[in-house]
Amino acid sequence: MLEKLSSVLKKTTDKIANAIFLDKNLVDSIVKDLQRALIEADVHVPLVLVLTQKIKKAALDERIKGLEKKEHIVKLLHDELLGILGEKREISLQKHNVFLMLGLYGQGKTTTISKLASYYAKRGTKVCAIGLDVYRPAASEQLKQLCDKLNIPAFIDSKEKDPKKIWKKYEKELEKYSLVLVDTAGRDSLNEALLKEIKDILKLTKPTETLLVMSADVGQTAKKQAEAFKALNISGVIITKMDSTAKAGGALTACAEVKAPVVFIGTGEKPADLEAFDPEAFLGRLLGMGDLKSLMEKIQSVVHKDDIEKTQKRLEQGKFTLKDLQSQLESMESLGSMDSLLSMIPGLGKAKIPNEAMVAQQEKIKRWKHAIKSMTEEEIENPKILEEETSRIQRIAKGSGTTTSEIRALIKQYKMLKEMITSQSQISPDKMDQKTMMKLAKKFGRKMKL
Ligand code: GDP
Ligand code: MG
Repeated sequence: MLEKLSSVLKKTTDKIANAIFLDKNLVDSIVKDLQRALIEADVHVPLVLVLTQKIKKAALDERIKGLEKKEHIVKLLHDELLGILGEKREISLQKHNVFLMLGLYGQGKTTTISKLASYYAKRGTKVCAIGLDVYRPAASEQLKQLCDKLNIPAFIDSKEKDPKKIWKKYEKELEKYSLVLVDTAGRDSLNEALLKEIKDILKLTKPTETLLVMSADVGQTAKKQAEAFKALNISGVIITKMDSTAKAGGALTACAEVKAPVVFIGTGEKPADLEAFDPEAFLGRLLGMGDLKSLMEKIQSVVHKDDIEKTQKRLEQGKFTLKDLQSQLESMESLGSMDSLLSMIPGLGKAKIPNEAMVAQQEKIKRWKHAIKSMTEEEIENPKILEEETSRIQRIAKGSGTTTSEIRALIKQYKMLKEMITSQSQISPDKMDQKTMMKLAKKFGRKMKL
């Protein structure tokens, strides 16, 4: 169900959680991915644009910083998505209930009756079904077969062509059931004939719930359908075939747009493939998290608290190894991060860094990373030995396809960063944020030669 959208949403929250800086480039790429995925899932374009604009605005809001900003954006994403999924509406059963199924041909009305029958029977409700689809000869047989399998009584009369007569025939019998599921005939479109027939059936059956059954693959046309059927006072929508389309975002959000609450979703052809629609839980699944709280916890936990604490401990003991440098380099790898890092350095702040210089910088970092990979554990832990035994530098350069001067530049960079970081005696783990980095960068700004 909406696997692709789900995977992009999960990636998006991961990206936000893992980002050191939510700089413009990162935000742009996140917003682009989101837009593409939502539009591919068939969410109405104006809704997508509003959502992504809000995220962009919040991300670039200078007043909110660090972790708070991440939480703010993820909460915003969560809330906006929830908004376009619509309100939750739970059907509550009364003493005697009649659910009338409405919808066009092939949308899943009859199948959904078997699902609802199974759903409510499992919860102890005395259920039966009645077939009022008199147009397709096989329709009532289909209903009967499906219900037989579930041991649910299905009242049909395949010879009778007048739905009213069928209803009258079984009316007394139906009163013995707590829930009566009424199957009706569809058409290719909601034409006059169907409208009249539905109005008659409404009068006759006096449903407690009038449910529009709509297939998820109709996408955006769901809005038109829902709007048209709203004139019949539908109380809820059941969206079927959620399992067989990537475009289910269209039907779901379109219903919310016209304020027709989705009450159930169908996720397959079997009787058990039905779930009550809970926007919050549904969204939680899409985001790969149970609820907003757990999502927030995820954001807080991936700030590398562990890593920061470990680094912190090592730093307190005066240890800062090339491994630490490597992870620094990794986090600086995207051009965007580099840009924001450089923008913190006095003097460089306003300067526009030429694109080639940025690309060259990236290339340099990549090569440094290769070089570190060619080092032994001992060298990584204690880079001093590299300066003491220069043959090591030659070996590493050869092994990693770099030059000895590059390795020397790397060592220089490492020493500079080590001095910078260890001089900051009290870096509390959760304070290692933009502000701290900024301070550090300012202090050592002139020396930073990235
Ligand atoms: P009706 O004309 O509205 O009564 O539609 P039916 O109930 O006869 O369903 C039409 C087709 O859609 C049938 O082949 C069903 O098996 C299929 N169908 C219904 N609901 C679902 C669903 O949730 N998932 C999938 N994959 N197929 C479904
Ligand atoms: Mg049918």
